[in-house]
Amino acid sequence: MTTSGLNGAPVLVVGAGIMGAGIAQVAAQAGHAVRLFDTREGAAAQALAKLAQTLDSLVTKGRLTDEVAAATLARIEPTATLDAAADVGLVVEAIVENLDAKRALFRQLEAIVGAGCVLATNTSSISVTAIANGLQHPARLVGMHFFNPVPLMKLVEVVSGLQTDAGVAEDIFELGKAWGKVPVHTKSTPGFIVNRIARPYYAETLALLQEQAATPQVLDACLKAAGFRMGPCELMDLIGHDTNFAVTRSVYEANFYDKRYVPSLVQREMVDGGLLGRKSGRGFYRYPDGADALPVAVHAAPATAQAITVHGEGAVADWLEQAVTHALEPQGWGPARQVDSGWIGLEIDGARLALTDGRTAGERAARANLRDVAVFDRTVLLPVKPGTAIAYALAPQASASWRTQAPAWLAALGLVPLPLADTPGLVVARTLAMLVNEAADAVLQGVCTPEGADAAMKLGVNYPAGPFEWLQGWSVTGVIALLEALDAHYRGERYRVSPWLRRQA
Ligand code: NAD
Repeated sequence: MTTSGLNGAPVLVVGAGIMGAGIAQVAAQAGHAVRLFDTREGAAAQALAKLAQTLDSLVTKGRLTDEVAAATLARIEPTATLDAAADVGLVVEAIVENLDAKRALFRQLEAIVGAGCVLATNTSSISVTAIANGLQHPARLVGMHFFNPVPLMKLVEVVSGLQTDAGVAEDIFELGKAWGKVPVHTKSTPGFIVNRIARPYYAETLALLQEQAATPQVLDACLKAAGFRMGPCELMDLIGHDTNFAVTRSVYEANFYDKRYVPSLVQREMVDGGLLGRKSGRGFYRYPDGADALPVAVHAAPATAQAITVHGEGAVADWLEQAVTHALEPQGWGPARQVDSGWIGLEIDGARLALTDGRTAGERAARANLRDVAVFDRTVLLPVKPGTAIAYALAPQASASWRTQAPAWLAALGLVPLPLADTPGLVVARTLAMLVNEAADAVLQGVCTPEGADAAMKLGVNYPAGPFEWLQGWSVTGVIALLEALDAHYRGERYRVSPWLRRQA
């Protein structure tokens, strides 16, 4: 199918809620004549009045000229019937998230629109293939998945169903660019790109909470230190636990109850109890105050050591060598370095402070026939800024003195050590490995390209880097080893390694 070129064509937006209003604004700002329809009487006019206020305040703040604001508003026209679709080049649907309602709407529209008109759905979780089923021309239906708030979020997932014409997807891709967005192609699979790859960001923290590994504050602090704008707990509180839980559930169900996506009992309990987050005044934290500041633990300088060796190679080992050298400078000596030891970390008078490889500190201690072992989490942002929070865990068999010395050494390196129960893969390493693994499976299944996944996660959910960018800074074998350690510890389907990663290795 060829479309008559969407640039400049009139657009009908159906649904004048949060998303529809934003889509209408973006289309109008790009110069389209926009019609806005909603079954709720007055909804389209209300949306337009609200947009007028928003544009006004942008003019007041100097972010928009009077002329642009007035022209944008003048291009949007509320309409009382779907007949307004007769001469448009594109319909974007943003109505209630319900398959039957969307199918019925598109069937109705097919009887009105012209032959070259493209039909787009902004669904966030329903199969585009399923919405197209039963249409006379399913090839012209495509997903155009915007993110909230539409005018600010750059990403648009262009979703192709089984019958979507490749040319139609390409036209929507180009239109997305003309609207100032960054479009990314994806196949119609549960969660598309962002909502699928993001699941482990919440799920791993919920799993750690369930086994009482740490408090929400600690988990949030660790992931924020890794560059995430919000920790998973405060983010779930913001999104709303009901919404977040519903998305997880829908991805889980749509994947035929694949255990990898199993929802969390911790979150279900919160939803059942009405602890929905910010909107209900209480989630993991109480609002409006939000999270309390983490209590500051004071660590004395570590006891003078006789011998220190930095083990391993790579960026983290290099940074450790630098940091230890700096810490030992006043004493007039430096650490030894051994690159081929097979682990990364510090050996301090026979005790080990090791970067997590996925195994627990207890397991590593038992394997090495040592008592004094501690593991610390991955640091992503190197060189580490002083004051960076980092999770660590002690082997249960560690001596009383190592229990104070291990965090004291992390503090001496400029970190803020946060104790975690001795769980495999700690917080950041485990979360990143699972995000990478999910992205790898998405690529394996043709849902997106690695570049598409990186762009989607950075622009759709503001991740500091994309999963494949993290993979570059880590190593395929390192990620696989970490996942295998998690799998060996927990058993089951959740931590199975993506065949895509195995192929790269
Ligand atoms: P919303 O409830 O704010 O708005 C939906 C609007 O559609 C309402 O005004 C309602 O009156 C109207 N409506 C319902 N049925 C209709 C019909 N048959 N014909 C015309 N109008 C109808 O919802 P929203 O958050 O804007 O979501 C709309 C769509 O966008 C959903 O499919 C949702 O999954 C998707 N989406 C939402 C977000 C988000 O963060 N809110 C993000 C991406 C995608």
